[in-house]
Amino acid sequence: MTDRTSAIDILVSEVGPRDGLQSVATIMSTEAKKAWIAAEAAAGVREIEVGSFVPARLLPQLADTADIVAFAKTIPDLTVAVLVPNARGAAAAIAAGADKITLPLSVSETHSLANLRRTHEQVIDEAVAIGKLVREAPEGRRPHFEGSLSTAFGCTLEGAIPDAQIARLAAALMDAGCDEVGLSDTTGYADPAAVKRLIKLVRGVVGDPALTGIHLHNTRGLGLANALAALDAGLTTLDASLGGIGGCPFAPGASGNIVTEDLVFMLEAMGLRTGIDIDRLLEVRAIVTAALPQEEMFGFLPDAKLPLGFAPATLLEAA
Ligand code: ZN
Repeated sequence: MTDRTSAIDILVSEVGPRDGLQSVATIMSTEAKKAWIAAEAAAGVREIEVGSFVPARLLPQLADTADIVAFAKTIPDLTVAVLVPNARGAAAAIAAGADKITLPLSVSETHSLANLRRTHEQVIDEAVAIGKLVREAPEGRRPHFEGSLSTAFGCTLEGAIPDAQIARLAAALMDAGCDEVGLSDTTGYADPAAVKRLIKLVRGVVGDPALTGIHLHNTRGLGLANALAALDAGLTTLDASLGGIGGCPFAPGASGNIVTEDLVFMLEAMGLRTGIDIDRLLEVRAIVTAALPQEEMFGFLPDAKLPLGFAPATLLEAA
């Protein structure tokens, strides 16, 4: 077991059990999910988005989220994150003991109506209600509350979204009681210049400490280039999915999160500590492959292997 309390430079947040599984048709068994989460945590991953509190009829793949949260909470020093579409989901997340809750707000109102069936005003109302739930939760059970600006780099239904609209919604989320906002390239439209520009824009509105993370997809092959741009712009949390599985089932054509294995390799090669043991991370793929034999797993490192004499930035105990 790697030491999950040592210092890291970049937090890699694994979203496969949520973003990955919600977009595949096969329902992964609760036992396989637990094995996956436990193995990634044992490899040194410190934050995992383990599910989503959406109605089971909409996403049967994630119907066991409360059970998965309860299991993940038994793993020491793991931040257990979940997605919540509304205040009802947030209440369930708080009751289950989640450490972090993320409310997606699509900056494209057309996408918001298609995805959450809510206008911007209605989502902000939910954010206000969630902020109240979080504040009223007993000490020690108050999750970190993030509002995620999804389709921030463009929408498959609307195209580019005006800067002023993104800035206004970021401010509204903070006013509603979010601890921070995140940027999400739901559609894979981002490029490195856009990443830098939007981080500057949103940080200018909410302040640097209230924007630390980004959720990127590799739809057009720019995932790692965009991750590097985000690092250059000062972000410290990057979402990724084991084997790159996932995407947004409500955005036609969008698929593929950035690959956790390749991202961790890039960061460690650059001298940035993630706390993750790459060899052990690669071993986790076998669990997912066995549980989802029809799904394609992506990534370059798994095939190419580590370079000879590779020295990761994270100092790992001798086996
Ligand atoms: Zn995603």
